[in-house]
Amino acid sequence: MAKKPRKPIAVDKLNPMLAQMELEQLVKEIAKHNKAYHGDDAPLISDADYDVLMRRNADIEAAFPQLKLANSPSDLVGYVPQEKFKKITHNIPMLSLGNAFNADDVQEFYTKIDRFLGLDGAVINLTAEPKIDGLSASLRYENGILVSGATRGDGQVGEDITENLKTISEIPHELKGDNIPDIVEVRGEVYMSHAEFAALNARQEDAGQKIFANPRNAAAGSLRQLDSRITASRNLHFFAYAWGEMSEFGFQTQMGMVEQFEAWGFTVNPLMKMFDNADELVAHYAQIEEQRPHLGYDIDGVVYKVNRLDLQERLGFVSRAPRWAIAHKFPAEKARTVINDIEIQVGRTGALTPVARLEPVSVGGVVVSNATLHNEDEIARKDVRIGDTVVIQRAGDVIPQIVEVVLEKRPADSVAYEFPRHCPICGSAADRELNAKTGKMDVIRRCEGGLICKAQVTERLRHFVSRNAFDFDGLGSKQVEQFYEWGIIKDAADIFDIEAHDGEKWDTVRKREGWGEQSVDKLFAAINDRREIGLDRFIFGLGIRHIGETTARMLARNYETMDVFLPAMQAASVPIGTDGELVNEAYADLMNMDGIGDIVALSLVQFFAEENNLKFLDKLLGAVTTIPLEKADDDSPVAGKVMVFTGSLEIMTRNEAKAKAESLGAKVTGSVSKKTDILVAGPGAGSKLKKAEELGIQVLTEQEWVDLANAK
Ligand SMILES: [Zn+2]
Repeated sequence: MAKKPRKPIAVDKLNPMLAQMELEQLVKEIAKHNKAYHGDDAPLISDADYDVLMRRNADIEAAFPQLKLANSPSDLVGYVPQEKFKKITHNIPMLSLGNAFNADDVQEFYTKIDRFLGLDGAVINLTAEPKIDGLSASLRYENGILVSGATRGDGQVGEDITENLKTISEIPHELKGDNIPDIVEVRGEVYMSHAEFAALNARQEDAGQKIFANPRNAAAGSLRQLDSRITASRNLHFFAYAWGEMSEFGFQTQMGMVEQFEAWGFTVNPLMKMFDNADELVAHYAQIEEQRPHLGYDIDGVVYKVNRLDLQERLGFVSRAPRWAIAHKFPAEKARTVINDIEIQVGRTGALTPVARLEPVSVGGVVVSNATLHNEDEIARKDVRIGDTVVIQRAGDVIPQIVEVVLEKRPADSVAYEFPRHCPICGSAADRELNAKTGKMDVIRRCEGGLICKAQVTERLRHFVSRNAFDFDGLGSKQVEQFYEWGIIKDAADIFDIEAHDGEKWDTVRKREGWGEQSVDKLFAAINDRREIGLDRFIFGLGIRHIGETTARMLARNYETMDVFLPAMQAASVPIGTDGELVNEAYADLMNMDGIGDIVALSLVQFFAEENNLKFLDKLLGAVTTIPLEKADDDSPVAGKVMVFTGSLEIMTRNEAKAKAESLGAKVTGSVSKKTDILVAGPGAGSKLKKAEELGIQVLTEQEWVDLANAK
């Protein structure tokens, strides 16, 4: 709960440009905290939050070793993970919530819940409460007595700050009243009021000490004191709103539970209310936003939760965030700065991406020097020009966006930005393709240089050797780029040919710095080590547009071997109908895979329709053998099975059944084929049931499926 509204992009979804931008931000951010901690002894964030930054930095460096900065925080000698507080493992992890940024997001959240539960529009009550901008803590009571208290940490493991939490008057040392289970874990937010914050800073100033930037930082600094007397002097507060382990559970609703907290002696937020549709939630949000300046403490949004706990249970989780709750955030922080330049970067697939180079400016505590401009149309739509003063914001993720141009500040000699029609790296024409499916021009302009474009070739090579692709030991992106520069390789398949490379060129390499006899031998061994490689890594390594690591693995799991995959892809890629409809069985099979949509399928088809790519594959497969993916190590009775649901289900909704099956390792598809293992047929099942019976596929009733699912 205490996390800033920063929802990082999964590392495997980052491209080099985004990765670099984030690394640059992280180095500054971490340096700032190092100074605050070591230099000023006045940390601005909790140790756990600091660890999150360090880990993120390390993860990105591991995925993009070529982008590691010279002043990388990973290399700092001074950094020692904080061991001052003992660790406490949360038996039930502390949640993080998904975010909503506008009324549409809230409506979508509500609609999804309604659809998932299949209640057919029956009223679903939701609670709404202000999202306190403080630090989450978990309090454990045994037989009604407070025995320990921990920070959220990474959600799984927090720090033991029991003594400090005990100094907060709103945290009872002993629960009042009756109805108290043997084990109770109460969770909530520790925060500092505006009044206390002002008083604290005045005292700090008088004493010639560090001024805190905001109440959240002050609360964090106060809570992580080794001397709990200092914490006690800070007059912190606590709102209870959630729970972890409970040895007995007699409560039916979120609201009921929170009322019980109050009866036990906790303070709960007086603004928590219940509503029964998305419009009411949004109206309440607007009201709270109006009250925000007068509350006396910081909030950064409103949290909505499904009130009935049995429905929460049914809704469950997606990744680590609950389906039954969402945080509706207040608008992001903004700042003004000047665009010094617009730079065009060329990616692996030839995409020309514009990046605004900004006069560095601090937005919500992070120094920003780049902003994404997305594409040509976006620049034109906003009429963004070099030299313009712009409003930028950070929202939801770490890539700053340009919101608008401040026209009154535009220089008199300003000219409209003209997007290049040629690749800035190789000079080839850069065009926008006509999308066969939509009939519209692609928003992305791409360099047509292909193999002659150094930017594209080196990006592809870097991708090929990256950690989730071929990952050669000792042949990273830097080396592979050098080999390309020196003319040793022209494409990735040539890597397997290096050892056989005759004479001269290779001899000159041996003389280069860092390439002695020994390292050359090691390199050859490392390359030979990859002559057998998992089909998933192979597919990912091809660098096909939109095929990330997860999709590559899905494809490998579905097609199992290269002998099946390659012909299937080639079959899927012809013929392409004039109306853009791709109708053939191989394509239908591809589209029938769960998680494969139009964009991914079209991208695959385009790749395998391209003669040059097939030649490259042929060459690569001459040197490399692919091995099938190992079956998922899961002992559920449906693990690895292909399942189809049909007819009307009565115990679970279709969505619930699908989520359940997938959580047990099954793959759920929409239609029955030879590959189907199990058909679950509810009343009214028609053609799918008939087809399954013809094919001799196992058919289960819904009850049999539920029994099977619960058997694990
Ligand atoms: Zn180019």
